[in-house]
Amino acid sequence: MSDIIRRDPRAEWIARNRLHPLHAAMQPAQHSWMGPNGIIRKNLHGIGFIGPNGIKRIDRSGAQQGGAVKRSAAVEVQLPLHQVPAPAFYISVVPDMVGGRLSSHDRDLLGLAHQLAGSDGAVLAVVFGEHKENAFATAGVDRLLVLEGDAFSGYAPEQRIQGLRAVDNQFNPRHWLLPDSRSGGGELGRRFAAALGERPATRVWQVKDQECIGRAGAGLQDLARPVARLILASAECAEPVSETRHEALPVELSTPVARSLSRIEDLGAVAVDPAAIPMAEAEFIFSGGNGVKDWDLFHKTAAALGATEGASRVAVDDGFMARDRQVGASGTWVTARVYVAVGISGAIQHLQGIGACDKVVAINLDPGCDMIKRADLSVIGESAEILQALIAAVEAYRNEAKRDAA
Ligand SMILES: Cc1cc2nc3c(=O)[nH]c(=O)nc-3n(C[C@H](O)[C@H](O)[C@H](O)COP(=O)(O)OP(=O)(O)OC[C@H]3O[C@@H](n4cnc5c(N)ncnc54)[C@H](O)[C@@H]3O)c2cc1C
Repeated sequence: MSDIIRRDPRAEWIARNRLHPLHAAMQPAQHSWMGPNGIIRKNLHGIGFIGPNGIKRIDRSGAQQGGAVKRSAAVEVQLPLHQVPAPAFYISVVPDMVGGRLSSHDRDLLGLAHQLAGSDGAVLAVVFGEHKENAFATAGVDRLLVLEGDAFSGYAPEQRIQGLRAVDNQFNPRHWLLPDSRSGGGELGRRFAAALGERPATRVWQVKDQECIGRAGAGLQDLARPVARLILASAECAEPVSETRHEALPVELSTPVARSLSRIEDLGAVAVDPAAIPMAEAEFIFSGGNGVKDWDLFHKTAAALGATEGASRVAVDDGFMARDRQVGASGTWVTARVYVAVGISGAIQHLQGIGACDKVVAINLDPGCDMIKRADLSVIGESAEILQALIAAVEAYRNEAKRDAA
């Protein structure tokens, strides 16, 4: 095993947050120990666990105390199951499913859907084509409708609208929620609104008191209007579901979806040079800062990973990277699915620029720096060593894939 120290900022955050349902599982198992003068000390805060509604519960059977049972977050903590046996109505969500998985934007939308569903309604997620997601239940999906088949995969907005119309006829959802994103939801939502003849509420960032508030006027104004049937919501429109688990019961359409006469032909994805992708649109960014000591190795790693290069302002000011690669408040605000920060301390101006990134990976010598606090995954160590190990791992993975294919 490597001796690189890895931190899990999410686990640390949960361990500090007493109201999180996984809080107890993140506590060290040891609750009593012998002090330096021979007296047994007990940590009374460590006994019991916090229930989903924030109240402390103590299991007097002792099974959860004194470290007798080793607790593991993944195995033992079961979130309470939210069931809707006979939904009074549906709130339908059409997630973007970028890369076949729920994005953080999709999860925010599911959180908003639960806000609108209350206890009587069910959240129905409509997913197109094949997916790789296995966490629909914990993301808040009560009913799952997968519209499979080649006709729905790739860029097929017309066929997808046919599918959504069929869902609308059968389930008659009280509200439709789509992400107002550039990953498909924004366009699909507007097309669907035209097909339904509904006026959608766009760029919605809050739904409250029977009103939805969206951005307008080039992002300078808020527009409040009664909650629309079709809502195109921005990221962070609501807290994602985190305290309940849901059934994600599969449902089907009773009639097959009519084939649309497609006027659009999807010719598939085109291989592009990652360096040519504008920073604001790049999905995978490999960014270097003052902690990068070997820039040739940095470029080599970015090429091996197939990532778009980015940089901190210091790296740009020092002449190692071009000005158009600067990420941050005075550079580009990026929205990557994965952002790798190599030797970047996490100054506020830099963090502002990566606020919308989905997963952040930090490589840094300093375990206490702000970038590590922001990161979802951190690797503590010398950047050059880690980049070399990364290249070796990527090459080994590719060679193995080639061997398997041969
Ligand atoms: C008005 C204004 C606007 C700004 N706008 C931006 C902006 O848009 N974007 C931006 O990035 N900055 C911006 N800045 C600058 C910002 O405040 C920081 O100075 C800058 O982001 C720091 O860059 P850095 O993290 O690369 O360097 P440092 O702060 O020097 O951090 C280097 C990091 O590398 C780590 N490290 C060192 N050696 C190694 C090693 N061998 N291996 C691994 N890790 C190592 C260190 O632990 C440290 O965390 C702005 C500042 C101002 C005042």
